Amino acid sequence: MRLTGLGVSPGIGVGTAVILRRARGNFGFSVPTRRVPQEVERLQAAREAAREQIRHIKERIASGAGAEHAYLFDAQLLMLDDSMLIDRAVEIIRTSRVNAETALQQTLDEISALFDSADDPYLRERRGDVSDVVGRLCGNLRAGDGQADPFRALEGPLVLVADELTPSLIAQLDWHRLAALVSDEGSWTYHTAILARSLRIPAVAGLRNASALIAPGSTVAIDGASGDVIVDPDEAAMTQIRTRERTRIVYQQSLDEYRRLPAVTADGVQIRLEANIESVDDAPRAHERGADGIGLFRSEFLLAGGGQGALAEDAQYAAYSRLLDSAAPAPVTVRTFDVSETQLPIEHAGIDGSRAPLGLRGIRLSLAMDEIFQAQLRALLRAAPHGSLRIMFPFVSSVEELRAAREAVARAAQTLRGRGLDVPRVPTGVMIEVPSAALTADLLAAEADFFAIGTNDLIQYCLAVDRTDDRVSRLYEPLHPAILRILRLVARAGRRRHIRVSVCGEMAADPMLLTLLVGLGLTEFSMAAGAIPLAKQALRELNTADATRVAARALRAATAADVERELIEFLAPQAVRHARP
Ligand code: PEP
Ligand code: MG
Repeated sequence: MRLTGLGVSPGIGVGTAVILRRARGNFGFSVPTRRVPQEVERLQAAREAAREQIRHIKERIASGAGAEHAYLFDAQLLMLDDSMLIDRAVEIIRTSRVNAETALQQTLDEISALFDSADDPYLRERRGDVSDVVGRLCGNLRAGDGQADPFRALEGPLVLVADELTPSLIAQLDWHRLAALVSDEGSWTYHTAILARSLRIPAVAGLRNASALIAPGSTVAIDGASGDVIVDPDEAAMTQIRTRERTRIVYQQSLDEYRRLPAVTADGVQIRLEANIESVDDAPRAHERGADGIGLFRSEFLLAGGGQGALAEDAQYAAYSRLLDSAAPAPVTVRTFDVSETQLPIEHAGIDGSRAPLGLRGIRLSLAMDEIFQAQLRALLRAAPHGSLRIMFPFVSSVEELRAAREAVARAAQTLRGRGLDVPRVPTGVMIEVPSAALTADLLAAEADFFAIGTNDLIQYCLAVDRTDDRVSRLYEPLHPAILRILRLVARAGRRRHIRVSVCGEMAADPMLLTLLVGLGLTEFSMAAGAIPLAKQALRELNTADATRVAARALRAATAADVERELIEFLAPQAVRHARP
């Protein structure tokens, strides 16, 4: 069987399929026969824990509200011993060889269907109780696992095939055993795709129903450049994708000579090319690929799989100082946590990566959780003397938020001075990724030290296109006239106020789009380290006066297709010279 999706992280990966399905916050996957007894044991342990918990709740309710209200929990205790629930789940684990969470979910679905078909309101009400008990059991299963790799008992190399893959799940796995990632959802700018590229794990996204079509345990080969996914490939198919991979590697190597060359245009304009990284260990590789510094450290990846301890000031200080040390003397821009509430390792143990896109996220969350924000800022300011640090706030949507964030930095500095520490002045800047921030860039520029344009989010919020939803990904159009105008606006605001403006979204990594960005007057970029040699090659052939002319023409175009035509026409001679495989 051959499926085709979006290649989001290049490379070939071959391994055994593990199927993951997210059902109401739980992951379901198949387990090998020899692991079945262990899975049954997990379920029994979760039941015993639930029994204790429900007894405790019953006592509390009895003493607080009276014994007559506690009977509800007798019903829940009885359910724990009902053969329709646990025994049935054990049977499903044994016969279908799935994890306990999947078996419980299936059991709940069966019981719910039975209750729904009964014409008895009492029974229908009991459905809620069963679901409550199952929720508790799943919570206990998760708590029992802690933050461990849920696939530790499976033999690698593995190809994870999931309906949805979250960055926090990937971050807590043993990557060395992951041959490839395949997901029904997602797109190029999806965080999991960005992380896969950083970890150099081949990945294909947007396959719609791969997790239903691919059988657990089958051999899967993927080509993360073309988006091909081949199930149980024969020799001929393997030879074909291996040949393709070799061509790609040779092409990559041909770009190697650009790593050490300066990023300068043909007419001598210096361009800054920095790297986006998600892990402290990526800093040396960024340098090796020719980066002038770290333009975006996504600090929230420190939290994935780390438990509550990852939020501690000292743990963060250790990470930031190591990062600054390894990048010095090159500058490092650390973005404060860009997560939503559920992604913070507090209370919500377990695997949950869903990002509430327009809720309490980024700077909003930091401002709402002062203690967590202060700990991060103190850790950053303490680490500052280790190198050249800049602090950046994500998801800012107003001047008030910038002011509040800067006030929080001043307070953190004050606390450290109270401890007798010297605190250097650290530039603070804003991610321009929300349309309201872009449209008030002149006002923000008056109070920020620098801007970094986050085109990944800016495009999705400007165009109202969810960047993680493959069904609308064709509408995710960086060349939309609205995007060109908004980029020009932000670039101008920065120039007028003499603050640095960089572009750190994925857009900058595409040579055609990079040309346009240079034509709009932008000279600083941050991108995945692997994209830097190609960007240097493109820049060194570019004349800025020509780029300005083509950008001016593009700005007059009415549609994205017209903009693209202008760019292709302009770049055609180079494209012929550097045909990419
Ligand atoms: C962006 O939004 O462009 C960006 C760089 O941040 P992230 O991809 O982490 O949201
Ligand atoms: Mg963003």
